[in-house]
Amino acid sequence: MQYDHIVIRYGELSLKGRNRKLFTTQLQNNVITAIRDYPNTRVQKKRDRMYIVLNGEDPNPIIERCRHIFGIQSLSLAVKVENEEQAIKESALELLKEAKPSTFKVTTKRSYKEFPIGSQQFNQVLGGYLLVNTENITVDLHNPDLEIVVDIRDDATYLTSAKVLGAGGLPVGSSGKSLLLLSGGIDSPVAGYQAMKRGVELEAIHFHSPPYTSERAKEKVLDLAEKLAYYGKSIKVHVIPFTALQQKIHREVPHGYSMTVMRRMMMRISEAVAKKENILSLITGESLGQVASQTMESMHAINAVTNYPIIRPLIAMDKDEIISISERIDMYSISIRPYEDCCTVFVPKSPKTKPRLEKVEQFESGIDFSQDIEDILNNVETITISADKKVSNQFDDLL
Ligand code: ATP
Ligand code: MG
Repeated sequence: MQYDHIVIRYGELSLKGRNRKLFTTQLQNNVITAIRDYPNTRVQKKRDRMYIVLNGEDPNPIIERCRHIFGIQSLSLAVKVENEEQAIKESALELLKEAKPSTFKVTTKRSYKEFPIGSQQFNQVLGGYLLVNTENITVDLHNPDLEIVVDIRDDATYLTSAKVLGAGGLPVGSSGKSLLLLSGGIDSPVAGYQAMKRGVELEAIHFHSPPYTSERAKEKVLDLAEKLAYYGKSIKVHVIPFTALQQKIHREVPHGYSMTVMRRMMMRISEAVAKKENILSLITGESLGQVASQTMESMHAINAVTNYPIIRPLIAMDKDEIISISERIDMYSISIRPYEDCCTVFVPKSPKTKPRLEKVEQFESGIDFSQDIEDILNNVETITISADKKVSNQFDDLL
């Protein structure tokens, strides 16, 4: 049996009202991009589902690719036949013979009401036909090996069997863009993934401190961005030359507070980059109480430098939950590569776990950082990463 279509069922976006079309169009574009290596395919969008017309392409790698696209609830292979009793019977029989189950069940859904036989009756008609024309196969209505779904619609009938679970969520790009503070660690890539699940398109910002952090540490971040791009769209990664500013903080701020000041600098710079890129929010991989910078007091002191919403998808997750997502989305082995992050290189022996905002502000007020920040923003390296290759590299002036 030659499957000729893949049915894509929408998840939550099928609940959308008037702006549903925006979501389905976004999903269609994302699917087209994801399967562009299969040039014969066509993607047809209907109100309540989508079809990939295979035109002879092998469906298995396409299903595997589409399983990871947000906005899809489930997928099935399908055979398209005319709305005609005999044609449906013959195709269903072929499907059954090929699958060789011991038990089966027919489920008819008749949304095309002109079809002359009702759903219940057609279950019996088709079930009977299949029993008569096969051997050693019986009907099991409760726990069949194979369920043949006969979907009789206006344009045609689609016969499907097994459902493959999709990634759920909303299509990436349907919820605007956010700037992910991407370290080479375990948490921030997972945070980016979780935000993408809600339809957020990402850009990323990475603070890099050569020679304290190596070229390999940067490569690692770009590899993580490449993985993230696989689940959504290509990602611009802004690499921030952070060394001079970190050294200055290390020299001039009392050590108990240097981590807090450094984080505040990261937020200020991230906000400036977001503003330049017309992005309205930031994302971090923070998880409450995980380390000194992620206590309530630290988050309060760090957050105070920006009015931008900071999305923290992992805030209430345990480390083992985060790790299990990281493994599932194939990031973990990259995240544990042993290269230093700029934050760990300069971390003081005992950072304040309960920094006081007035104190941080007081320390900062005695030091002029404006030129340092300007220099940094003038020397950002922006690299665009797509799912299968790093596409371009440019230095751009962010001021
Ligand atoms: P991660 O595993 O994401 O590195 P973490 O548990 O190590 O997180 P921290 O090092 O305290 O936590 O960092 C908290 C958040 O700050 C990170 O999740 C990330 O969003 C951001 N961050 C940390 N270091 C960098 C960096 N070098 N560049 C960009 N963002 C960073
Ligand atoms: Mg880290």
